[in-house]
Amino acid sequence: MYPELRKWINQCDACNDIGYKPEVPLELSTYGGETSAVAKNLRKFFKELPLNEIGLCDVCKKFIR
Ligand SMILES: [Zn+2]
Repeated sequence: MYPELRKWINQCDACNDIGYKPEVPLELSTYGGETSAVAKNLRKFFKELPLNEIGLCDVCKKFIR
């Protein structure tokens, strides 16, 4: 995985599922100049994974309250 992708990745605290953050912009620029490929790859290889304020995904937050 590209290190610059890390900051766009969410990981659930409970199930360790990973996915991209919903706020990932349509186009990401990296210092290498590979602009849109990064955001495109994120969407291709990961699913969108919104986390709540305590780091739980949609599935886990239904079980843990
Ligand atoms: Zn989870």
